[in-house]
Order: sequence, then structure tokens, then C-alpha cells
Amino acid sequence: MSGAMNFKNCGSLLVTGANRGLGLQIVDSLASGRFSPAKIIATTRTPARAQKLQELADKHPNIHIVTLDVVSQESIEKCVEEVGQLVQEEGLNCLINNAGINVVADFHTVTAEKMIENFHTNAVAPLMITKAFLPLLKQAASRGQAGGSGSMGIQRAAVINVTSLLGSVELNWGERANNFKWYPYRTSKSALNMVTRCMAVDMEPDGILCMAIHPGWVRTDMGGSEAPLSPEESISSILSVIGGLTEKDHGSFLNFTGEVLPW
Ligand code: NDP
Repeated sequence: MSGAMNFKNCGSLLVTGANRGLGLQIVDSLASGRFSPAKIIATTRTPARAQKLQELADKHPNIHIVTLDVVSQESIEKCVEEVGQLVQEEGLNCLINNAGINVVADFHTVTAEKMIENFHTNAVAPLMITKAFLPLLKQAASRGQAGGSGSMGIQRAAVINVTSLLGSVELNWGERANNFKWYPYRTSKSALNMVTRCMAVDMEPDGILCMAIHPGWVRTDMGGSEAPLSPEESISSILSVIGGLTEKDHGSFLNFTGEVLPW
């Protein structure tokens, strides 16, 4: 059975940054797939400007659009409240921290402000969002256990952090180190990788799976037109990987193809 099929056992899934790029593609692919989660919660900071997402939601009644600016604690708390009303006692099965920015700066142009801006969105926000959603994730995890699916995975509760190969400390050496000398972005993704491992340790007792995934180099606003992968290709592979996650993948850093990447 392919991983994507496993979403039929995932009652609810939330994606951040769902108005364009990979986030929008996750919503589109899940909603139009054969085994769609009962509730796809697509968050964006400005729903009024998310026209493509609105069109998808008009076609698929399981898409729920909720406002979330990932760098605003007030917005995070409002979002949790709204999602709590949507999912009720079933809790939230899968949280995908996808929203991200790339503040381009090299050794010469980098400033403290640029570092902090990129850190806030890419590393601090996924931590604060996961903390805020913890009660709903725990609720789903404990129901999964009661229902007999005691093992880890998206049928129970999972946090997926969309990271980047550029955050790998080990790979930033030799020939590879000559490209993409982006201090704010690279370090923010390295920090997200460590946030992933720390949260994996903390959420393990509750049976909540936590891992980081690299989507490949993809043709989005961020990836640019030269990228080899289409959003459809990347997300089809990512959903297959996410759908098949088990406890052996807890705390892992995986490529979109499912292979293990070096931290
Ligand atoms: P895009 O630039 O195409 O989209 C970024 C998304 O993040 C948008 O929906 C944007 O919303 C949202 N976002 C940014 N800041 C906030 C915020 N404060 N609150 C809410 N939403 C916000 O990027 P991609 O789709 O390509 O990237 C998605 C993820 O994949 C990112 O984490 C990125 O780092 C990662 N990635 C992408 C790669 C690629 O090749 N494309 C490669 C490796 C990793 P808005 O429209 O409101 O700005």
C-alpha cells in the first residue's frame, strides 16, 4: 500500500502557508486524492488574498481555511481555538509546519536583523505553533492508542517540519559549500532541524511522531523557475513518505524520496 493511501486514516491535517507554493500543493493533492483526510485545515495569513485556495475550498468541502500568521503569538492562539472547534474531541492528527521565508544574505551583507527575521519564521514559529497545538495533538494521540493503532504515524499524531538540505551542517563542506552562501536561511533550517530533534524527544512519551523533511528543489516562488521538480512531483513523493511514517522515522531527517539525510 502506498503511503499516500494512508491518509484515509488521518482524520485531520493542518498545513501552514497553504496559499501558494508547496503548502497549496499539499492541500490540492490531498483534497483531490482518493483517500483524503476528513478535515484539511489550510492556514494562511491573508485568506482574502488566497484566491487559488478559496477556489479549492469551493470544490472540496473538507478544506477549511483558517487565518494564521506564524510569527504572531496572538494569531497562533486564535488559530488553535478555531481548529479546536473544528476537530472537537478527535484532536489534530497531523501538523505540517511548511511556511517559510528565505532572507538572502551572504557573509558581507548579513545583518543581525536579517538573521533574526529568518530565524523567527523558519525555526521559532514551528516551535511555538507545535507547543500551542500540543493539547490537540495529545488528544489525537491518546484516541489513536485507545483505537488500537498504538504505533506512531499520521493515523495517530505527527508533526512534520518542512526543512531544507541547505540546513545540513555536514553537507555544507567542500564543493557543495561554494553554493548558496545564505547565512539567515541555512542557519534557520539548521535550527529547525535541532528544534525537530528536541521536540521529538519531548513528544515521544505522548506517542506523537516528529520529523523533518526536505522537499527537493522545487519550482515555487522560493525555489525559482530553474528548479528540477514541479510542486506536484515533490508533494506526491512527500505525501507518500509522510503517509508511511512509523516509529522508526521518529526524530528523522528525510529527503522527499524517503532516504535518510545527514544532519
Ligand atoms: P513559497 O515562497 O512559494 O511559499 C512560502 C509560503 O510561506 C507562503 O504561503 C507564505 O505566505 C508562507 N509564509 C511566509 N511567512 C509567513 C507567515 N509569517 N505567516 C504565514 N505564512 C507565511 O515557498 P515554498 O512553497 O517553496 O516553500 C515551502 C517550504 O519548503 C519552506 O519552508 C521552504 O523553506 C521549504 N523548502 C522549499 C524548497 C524549494 O525548492 N521550493 C527547497 C527546500 C525547502 P504569504 O503568501 O502570505 O507570504
